[in-house]
Amino acid sequence: MKIEFHGTRGSIPTPSRRTQKFGGNTACIEVRTRSNDLIVLDAGTGIRRLGVNILQGDQAAIELMQAVEFTLESLAMDERLERSEGLRALEGSKPYKKEIHLFLSHFHWDHIQGWPFFVPAYVPLFNINIYGHLKADHRLFDVINGQQNLTYFPVYLDIMQSKKNFIELAEDTVCVGDTTVTSRFLNHPQGCLGYRITSGEMTVAYCTDNEHPADGSINPNVLELADGADIFIYDTQYTPEEYKTKPGWGHSTYEEGVRIAREAGAGKLVLWHHDPEHDDKFMEDLERKARDLFPNTMAAYEGLVITDFPCEPTESPAGDEAEAGAAAQAPDMQITPAAAVINPGATFLSMADPGFLARFGKALDQGLPPVDFDCAAVEFTSRHGLSALADLTGALQRRGVPISFSSMPGPVARMLHHTRFNLIASMQYTPPKY
Ligand SMILES: [Zn+2]
Ligand SMILES: [Zn+2]
Repeated sequence: MKIEFHGTRGSIPTPSRRTQKFGGNTACIEVRTRSNDLIVLDAGTGIRRLGVNILQGDQAAIELMQAVEFTLESLAMDERLERSEGLRALEGSKPYKKEIHLFLSHFHWDHIQGWPFFVPAYVPLFNINIYGHLKADHRLFDVINGQQNLTYFPVYLDIMQSKKNFIELAEDTVCVGDTTVTSRFLNHPQGCLGYRITSGEMTVAYCTDNEHPADGSINPNVLELADGADIFIYDTQYTPEEYKTKPGWGHSTYEEGVRIAREAGAGKLVLWHHDPEHDDKFMEDLERKARDLFPNTMAAYEGLVITDFPCEPTESPAGDEAEAGAAAQAPDMQITPAAAVINPGATFLSMADPGFLARFGKALDQGLPPVDFDCAAVEFTSRHGLSALADLTGALQRRGVPISFSSMPGPVARMLHHTRFNLIASMQYTPPKY
């Protein structure tokens, strides 16, 4: 695996002489697997450079980029792209691996803002799988499309010529070739997913935008993602002193990062999601303090590469044999239903409660019974409650677990009917009357 950091800053881009060393672009990490699959973590402003890198070294690609740069200034983008000589030339040029897997942790600006400037998204030859948090109130497509409303950006999403697939995740495991990507909920306003990527012998855990529990415990989801990971990338936006004035802001500290890295037996801790106010001098100091506690620590900077490749990655072996090998390594996602009932009840309203997630995660691991949700405590006015409900039911439904609802208040049922019709269509549930 090869990991390259293209954007390391949290919250907002912070370009300045004072941030030159660690960088001013927001979240984006490139992960090349041993089979040369491309996984991208988040689409902050750092993804613009990655897009250029993917295409660079190819005259046709450069022409294409010039065409795109030009057409970005014009609303008639689609017509111009069709006429672009650069584009036609690219079709006959050397082969790139044209499948890209973009995993978004969540949809705050610092994690999606670079997407409209990701040049491969404009190239019809690319197939881009965009994975993101399943939400009760928005579809993934709408979230991405929303930031390209003409008020904010001159090019609609559907004018970008690549093929795009939108895959909504809850707590899942996805296979990318012979690499597995596992997602777990983190604790952050509006929700967030952390990822654990295993390719060959190497595992990286990406836990951005996560606030540690107030009771001094360690979020079991973070612990699970980081368990024995070679590389543990963690949201260390604040110093412990700064954190005192920022509880509830959804971020964590280097001390917490160290604590989790130790507990999880992680190999290397990477400090991540740097605060916009932390200049290079401050970051060096912060890195030193963290190293005193956990020697194998480093603060992520733009251009940092961590790899276990002895040399450049090679193409995976072609043919049935390779496919059979990949299938054999894929995790068994079959879960056998048993007869029992999970009744999380009021815990819908406290999805961030680590205890609840642990119990729910355990149930997922052990094999799931049919699930009955006691919805009496879900409030119509609580988006968090509805979102949590949709997240959980989505995760269960993907595993083929029978789901039923009981004691669902009428307004909640109507809201779900409007926002998550596909999700609940197959459940034991009577649609509301209007
Ligand atoms: Zn962020
Ligand atoms: Zn965030």
